[in-house]
Amino acid sequence: MSGLTRTEERALRAVDHRDAVALLTELLAVPSVSGSAAESDIQHLLAKRLERLDLDVDQWRFDLEGLARKPGFPGVESARDEAWGLVGTWPGEGTVPSLVLQGHVDVVPPGDLRRWSAGPFDPVVTSDRIRARGACDMKAGVAANLAALAAIKRAGAVLRDTFALHFVIGEEDGGLGTFGTLDRGHTGRACIITEPTGGTLTTANAGALTFTIEVPGLATHASTSYAGWSAIDSYVALHRGLHELQERRNRVVEPLLREYPLAYPISVGRLRAGDWASSVPDLLVAEGRMGIGIAEEPGAARAELEEHIASIAALDPFLLDHPPRVSWSGGQFAGGSLPPGHPLRETVSEAHADATASSRPRERGAPYGSDLRLYQAEDVPTLHYGPGDVRLAHGPDESVSIRELVTVTRVLVVSILRSCGTVG
Ligand SMILES: [Zn+2]
Repeated sequence: MSGLTRTEERALRAVDHRDAVALLTELLAVPSVSGSAAESDIQHLLAKRLERLDLDVDQWRFDLEGLARKPGFPGVESARDEAWGLVGTWPGEGTVPSLVLQGHVDVVPPGDLRRWSAGPFDPVVTSDRIRARGACDMKAGVAANLAALAAIKRAGAVLRDTFALHFVIGEEDGGLGTFGTLDRGHTGRACIITEPTGGTLTTANAGALTFTIEVPGLATHASTSYAGWSAIDSYVALHRGLHELQERRNRVVEPLLREYPLAYPISVGRLRAGDWASSVPDLLVAEGRMGIGIAEEPGAARAELEEHIASIAALDPFLLDHPPRVSWSGGQFAGGSLPPGHPLRETVSEAHADATASSRPRERGAPYGSDLRLYQAEDVPTLHYGPGDVRLAHGPDESVSIRELVTVTRVLVVSILRSCGTVG
């Protein structure tokens, strides 16, 4: 027997599959790579959508320099001339929304275009999937947030409590958009971020810290390499050391992350060394990401990596006197979790079971950092529940299942109605 009320059933019938697909396709055609001008374009496009839904729209230009000086600023990896915040509010009882649905509108660059079977920003719609950069991370989530509210409006339901939609830029490079949105005073009693969770309820996040290691060397002509010191040769031991550190840090894993082959990866994503084939390189720069625990203190994790690198460098005759430098630039994501016993866990689980006529979703943590920790820092209890398989995120031919898009939209409809209540 379904646990749905008549209002919920009416709103579910008003979910328009074709509308959700059309909206997602429109969003995917905007190449809103983090830090690009298209990040602003997509915010303007979404603002028009919010106006059509008759919400109170707050769209504002960020004071980028002012935000960067504030305590808790999460850092950025992409330079920006401008950035926009966007919030749509359904005004009801209470100044603080009983529920916020949040999605980031920025995407990572497409990578090697030869690996894509069509242009990354030319969305391809098949019978069951939509393919383009950002399809699962996370424009499908953004589309589901809007489609859910549109269904409630279409069904003629009236929310009793205040409800809000947050659209943010800059999630992929640290969380600038969410930081600016919370700084503006937008908050909530609970928040669902519709990042891809593949049908699970993701109530916790591991963290991630971006690091840079600069390894010095001594340049000389390659024919007299014995007179210099190669930064690449010195780095090899440090790279192996990062693997050792990863192994050590994964011996004890928090319960919500135990299903992953590796809970706290340390990965180097970019290496640069030397400037001439016939010179011994005098500098190597390694940039990477260190996964940290849900409850781990970022400062302690940073110190652990720095000490480990220093201890290996001490065994290198050249680095002993010219130590490598570790710095922490770019995205700095602490872990975070929904407080134990918070009702949002129950609300979304039950909504999932009722709207899909199946069992409750499995609860787990995610091994990546997200905006969750920024909401948590402002005392907004937050979880992730959204369409898509995160393993497809950031890869070539990224795609999302249309069925999953619709399922999540339905679960959000019920979650909104139960969190905010209705009038009449
Ligand atoms: Zn994402």
